[in-house]
Formats: sequence, C-alpha cells, structure tokens
Amino acid sequence: MQIGFIGLGNMGGPMAANLARAGHVVTGFDLSVEVPDGVLAAQSAQDAVRDAEVVITMLPSGAILRDVAAQVLPAMRAGTILCDCSTVDVASARDVAAEAQAKGIGALDAPVSGGVGGAAAGTLTFMVGGPPEVFGRVTPLFDVMGSKTVLCGDAGAGQAAKLCNNMILGITMIGTCEAFALASKLGLDAARLFDVVSTSSGSSWSVNTYCPVPGVGPTTPADNDYRPGFAAELMLKDLRLAQDAATGAGADTPLGAMAADLYASFVEAEGGRGRDFSAMLPRFLARAHG
Ligand code: NAD
Repeated sequence: MQIGFIGLGNMGGPMAANLARAGHVVTGFDLSVEVPDGVLAAQSAQDAVRDAEVVITMLPSGAILRDVAAQVLPAMRAGTILCDCSTVDVASARDVAAEAQAKGIGALDAPVSGGVGGAAAGTLTFMVGGPPEVFGRVTPLFDVMGSKTVLCGDAGAGQAAKLCNNMILGITMIGTCEAFALASKLGLDAARLFDVVSTSSGSSWSVNTYCPVPGVGPTTPADNDYRPGFAAELMLKDLRLAQDAATGAGADTPLGAMAADLYASFVEAEGGRGRDFSAMLPRFLARAHG
C-alpha cells in the first residue's frame, strides 16, 4: 500500500519503520526529526500524502492534528483514508473526521496503548472509531503495527476508549503508590505486600505488571531510576483530556479530577516532568500525612 506518515517522533518513527519493513511504500514527514530507515522523506505534509491511499498521523495534540488535517485534506484524493493514531480530544477527532468525510475521504481515530516499546515491537493495541468499511481497509496496517485492534464505535469512540482506559490507569497507579507508601510507614515489607496484592482483590495492571517499587515484581521503570516508560507529563495530558471530556459530557469523575490535580502538581511543581508516571511512589514516600 502507498502510505503517507506525518509525525515521526518516539511513536510514529518506529510505527512507520515497521510498515516499510512489511513492504508498504511509506512516505514520511516531520517538522523536526529525520525519517527512519526504509521510509521516503517528503519535503512537506502535502508531499507526503499526494500519492497515499492511507495517511497516518501521530502528533502531539488535537490543535496540531486540526492544523495538519487542514493542510493535507485538500491534497488527498476522494476514496483515500486519514487515520489518526495520536491521543487527542474527542471533539478534535470528530471534527477532523467530519471534514474528511465532507471531501469523500474516510476517517478513523485510532489511538494506541503499548508505549514506545510496543511501537518498536509492533505489538500496540489500537482502539478505533469510524465506519466499519474504512476500518476493514486499514486493518492490515494495524496488524503490522500492533497485536490487537478493537473497533469501538463511530468517530471519536477510539479516543473515548483511550481516555477512559488511561483515567483508570492514572487512578490505579496513584492508589497503588499510596498503598505501598502506607505499607512502608507501617513497617510492612513491599515484596510481601506485592505477593499478597498481586493475587488478591487489590490486584491491577499497576500492581502486577508495572509495580512502582524498585526490586519488587517484574522489571519496570522503578528499576531504572523511574526513567520513562510512560512519562508523568503524558499521563497528565491524558487525565486532562478525560476531564475535558467529562465536563463536556456532564460525567461525574471525582477520582479522575483528583488524579489530574495530583499529576499536575507532580509535573509542574514537584520535579515529576521527565520521570515515569510511577514515580508517584517516591513522591508519596517523601510526604507526611495530610
Ligand atoms: P513525539 O513528540 O515524540 O512525536 C510527535 C512528533 O510530531 C514530533 O517528532 C514532532 O516534530 C512532530 N510534529 C509536530 N507538529 C508537526 C507538524 N505540524 N507536522 C509534522 N510533524 C509534526 O510524541 P510521541 O511520544 O511520538 O507521541 C505521539 C502521540 O502518541 C501523542 O499524541 C501521544 O499522546 C501518543 N502516545 C504516546 C505514547 C508514548 O508512550 N510516547 C503512548 C501512547 C500514545
């Protein structure tokens, strides 16, 4: 397939490289980074999409997605597809899809879970919003870049699934860190607590797979001085997207709001920027009750 790929950063670079390695003709564009091996370099976003049957975007925010869509949609032919894999707000996903559809271009929002490691290994999970027939045409590409793909519903449903998942993740990681900090202050050994919780009703992905305690459970960013992994500022971005969505939809999400506030303090005032999101544990350990 002829693919245009815009946004070749930490995630987009390895995703585009995997598509090229699988035999697709990938033309890439990024404002600041080089194209990876096997990907043809375009001089502009429009150049990257001109011959493409599918255009994939992997960009930092909804505002940038809107801006890039305004550049590339006029250069795309009717019957082609715009597939955005960035994590953005539901409204931007729906607006861009509507603009594409008005030009006869199919659109999907297809954010991912699995991080930079999953992007490199081709084991991402895609959560997708858009028409089933458009989804069917892009499925072979999802199968190259990932190991699981779920069609969640109409335009915006992929972003809705992503922000709900990450709201659960942010809340459970904070709860996990609070509990291990409490255990420490009660003199309870962290390895013993892990042994209990990982097979008990308190278990979760945050405990079992991503334990925030160095030397306990599987190897995680905690064992690498909390280098990301999944950076705290990206968790903050996702929690803010969830709060914006909750405000717009009239949903009551008090723990989501509190998680967003805690990650905001951590990132903006407590040295959390650039650290893994599980570095909430040393933050709690260093604080007194209250
Ligand atoms: P990144 O900052 O490494 O990459 C984004 C790239 O977009 C950059 O290289 C930047 O130069 C490029 N860019 C920005 N504006 C552009 C424009 N107008 N035209 C062309 N290129 C432009 O970010 P990332 O970690 O690759 O994340 C990309 C998206 O994936 C984000 O929405 C993020 O929330 C999401 N995501 C990231 C992870 C992760 O672990 N990094 C996991 C899941 C989802």
